[in-house]
Amino acid sequence: MRILVTGGAGYIGSHTAIRLLETGYDVTILDDLSSGHKEAVDRIEQLTGKKIELYVGDISDRVLLRKLFAASKIDAVIHFAGKKSVEDSVTQAAYYFAENVGGTAVLCNAMQEAGVSRIVYSSTCQVYGDKVVPALHEEMSADPVNPYGDTKYCSEKLLQWLAIGSGWSSVALRYFNPIGAHESGMIGEDQKNAKNIIPILLEIADGKRAKLQVFGTDYPTPDGTCLRDYIHIMDLADAHISAMEWATKNRGWLMCNVGNGIGGSVFDIRTAFEQACGKPIPFETTARRAGDPAILVADPTKAQSVLGWSGKLSLFEACHSAWQWHLKNPDGYVKR
Ligand code: NAD
Repeated sequence: MRILVTGGAGYIGSHTAIRLLETGYDVTILDDLSSGHKEAVDRIEQLTGKKIELYVGDISDRVLLRKLFAASKIDAVIHFAGKKSVEDSVTQAAYYFAENVGGTAVLCNAMQEAGVSRIVYSSTCQVYGDKVVPALHEEMSADPVNPYGDTKYCSEKLLQWLAIGSGWSSVALRYFNPIGAHESGMIGEDQKNAKNIIPILLEIADGKRAKLQVFGTDYPTPDGTCLRDYIHIMDLADAHISAMEWATKNRGWLMCNVGNGIGGSVFDIRTAFEQACGKPIPFETTARRAGDPAILVADPTKAQSVLGWSGKLSLFEACHSAWQWHLKNPDGYVKR
């Protein structure tokens, strides 16, 4: 069975592509390399000894999509390609809608022309907006508070309509906070220009940054800092395999949270990372930062009951894998 992985040269796409190959699927990748890396695709081939069909191009390129679907017998699509900066989406809303919603529509059109009707889509907990609840459940309303979250919700709606009106199997996975790297240490998140906590912790461990700024210690959480549902990237990759299996056996629409249901605080991830890298991570506490929700934690019950999936790897294992990737690739994907 051949899966088209859009955005397969990026962070989550590359980890899912390697897991697909390890599980016995064939993989075709379509990626414009705007933030992904050809080197990641080469390394997946080296690690698995399997060939990936790589198309370098845009998901909005109708001509390329027709060529791809005519040349490759694609059974299903896992769709990661898109833009993901909440901050940029606020000032570039039209661009984000064109890329994320327009691009998804062009892709779905090409799938329909080619008779492909199975898709797993990268959605996000950002779709829920700013709810202050101990855990986010799929029955809760979607109220995105930024254009990025809204582009993901609009794309979900498109896939839901295709399931209702055209008999598709459409699965949207709402990811929480993916971190970590493949166990080889050869595939990971390229940290250049990243603003997330793991790249910041890596910079501190490397001595390139003095300390961790902890924004707010007065949240209504056990240690006063924000809680996030950190999920190991390989657990997230496995969730896509489970979703693909669901889409193979079922028709219709499915939307599921993908998180562990465990809230990790800023101090929890700092401690786990210190243990993983064996170095102290100095910190300073400052005032709350605008726009940081106190708690973003999944209720993972639906993924467990419907997909038979649950996260298995710990926060320490995620930090350890990120550190191993960094030790082997201090500058990210640079060909040696
Ligand atoms: P990423 O930037 O590493 O990967 C995105 C990939 O898509 C890149 O390889 C990029 O080159 C490619 N791409 C972008 N626009 C394209 C286009 N128009 N045509 C073809 N290829 C294109 O990001 P990621 O973290 O791997 O995220 C993958 C998906 O998961 C995104 O849709 C993102 O919105 C979603 N998501 C990510 C997170 C997260 O924390 N990383 C959380 C929730 C959802």
